[in-house]
Amino acid sequence: MHAIGIDIGGTKIAGALVDEEGDILREARVPTPPTAQLIEDAVVAMVTDLAMGEAIEGVGVAAAGFIDAAQSTVYYAPNISWRNEPFQARLAARLHLPIVIDNDANAAGWAEFRFGAGRLVSDMVMLTIGTGVGGAIVTEDRLFRGGFGAGAELGHMRLVPDGHPCGCGQHGCLEQYGSGRALLRFANELADAGGIGQALADRRALTGELTGNDVADLIIAGDGGSLAALRQLGHGLGQGCASLGAILDPQLFVIGGGVAQAGELLLEPIRNAYLEHLPARGYHPEPEFRIAELVNNAGVVGAADLARVAARRTADSAQL
Ligand SMILES: [Zn+2]
Repeated sequence: MHAIGIDIGGTKIAGALVDEEGDILREARVPTPPTAQLIEDAVVAMVTDLAMGEAIEGVGVAAAGFIDAAQSTVYYAPNISWRNEPFQARLAARLHLPIVIDNDANAAGWAEFRFGAGRLVSDMVMLTIGTGVGGAIVTEDRLFRGGFGAGAELGHMRLVPDGHPCGCGQHGCLEQYGSGRALLRFANELADAGGIGQALADRRALTGELTGNDVADLIIAGDGGSLAALRQLGHGLGQGCASLGAILDPQLFVIGGGVAQAGELLLEPIRNAYLEHLPARGYHPEPEFRIAELVNNAGVVGAADLARVAARRTADSAQL
């Protein structure tokens, strides 16, 4: 049977009808409306359209934020005014379908585990490099959520004691050394310093402010300063992965998000920093590092499959 996945982002809501192989059969997309009520209405309308004429096993909704372990209540969402919002119950009452709510990074990680870069392993960690750093952990074929559902916030693991201030209120989080925003900070520091940062300084003088696209263009052109900024980013991520490796011992780290398009240029410094910082190096089996495969669809494909997993768990427990 098919399932529906919905991914509520800061700028758009994406939805898809997804089959058991993770293939998308039908897609929808609308700009994210400004209020929580309008977002709920938009999700209901999208699911109704996608479900037309189909038997639906379940609906999975992914959003940024803290979601409870029962996949039903949004404790807190950074982009939407949800605080302890019983979103699962509200949608179920209107749609009369099995619904689960999950964190967007968890949905993306689950999609990679089931259908993408992680399909051949049992234990993987995914880091999604966007403006911030999203995380997902799969251990022994199961998505790790933590006791309250707010686990795997890998971007807020402390990397540097008393380091750069983070939006979460702490200092020195991985997100401050491994995100798209961190890459821009490194690029601006190199531009300020001159030398290999000269091309970055010239670009900044032309446009007024460096953007992710500016840095990406210069990386593609082989500019030394931009490549140095990318290596700095990889170094931070690799150090974070080493700590995660010591705890979780995954067979695979998957790196996703826009910056991951740099491919091997990013993976190489991550691998090097990982090995440099891995405890008991030489005696510890070494994991693989790979770029995510489901670039744009991971959120909806993962959300749909998480809905299917939940629906089957419910069916199994009803039989017992
Ligand atoms: Zn933080």
